[in-house]
Amino acid sequence: AKAVRDRLRIAIQKSGRLGDPSRALLTACGLDWRESRDRLFCYGESLPVDLLLVRDDDIPGLLADGVCDLGIVGRNVLDEQAAEREQAGVVPVAKELRALGFGGCRLDIAVPDDWDWQGPEQLRGCRIASSYPQLLRRWLAGQGIDAEVVMLSGSVEIAPRLGQADAVCDLVSSGATLAANQLKPVLTLLRSEAVLAGPVAPFADARAELMQLLLRRMDGVLRLRH
Ligand code: ATP
Ligand code: ZN
Repeated sequence: AKAVRDRLRIAIQKSGRLGDPSRALLTACGLDWRESRDRLFCYGESLPVDLLLVRDDDIPGLLADGVCDLGIVGRNVLDEQAAEREQAGVVPVAKELRALGFGGCRLDIAVPDDWDWQGPEQLRGCRIASSYPQLLRRWLAGQGIDAEVVMLSGSVEIAPRLGQADAVCDLVSSGATLAANQLKPVLTLLRSEAVLAGPVAPFADARAELMQLLLRRMDGVLRLRH
């Protein structure tokens, strides 16, 4: 049985690139919180909308498990974990509701500076390091390219220098990190930004109205920002 709740719970990144802008957006929507000391849970004051401060990677799982109702997370993380669930045959329970206009980046394939880049065919038989194995595999399959995906949870950009991979598939914003590692971006797999993720099926309790209210306010704030 589904839990009936009369408060809405939103998961955002505790720190990192999305933490402050996520909180600022929700504040601009008129939300405020009584800070809790442990700063994992913030109790909503003016509206019954609470915050859960977590690692960004945990947000899709928290949504899937119904621990939170909405989440602010990079499209890259949401899509990767959705692909993982699809792969495992699990039905999707969360989807992108709004693009939020911050945390912009690209999921790019990058190759060593000294490669004479001719096109995707060049990746055939290569080892490509990435923290986004599902998105990379899906793209490779779509291109009909057989390559080895080397899953690394961090420091992807040094993999070629360490001899772990020939190329990388990583998040890029300015490109400075790639350049510092003698890599150059050659293809974009995904254009990403922070998104509001929420349920595929509507709530059947008080959360439905709270979510509508929040979405209306958020749309107003986002329109003003453009
Ligand atoms: P956490 O401790 O919460 O797991 P993290 O280190 O995984 O943090 P951040 O580096 O803060 O995460 O990145 C969060 C999100 O910011 C990324 O998933 C991505 O959507 C976005 N982002 C924007 N620009 C970049 C970039 N240059 N590199 C990495 N992520 C970026
Ligand atoms: Zn993370």
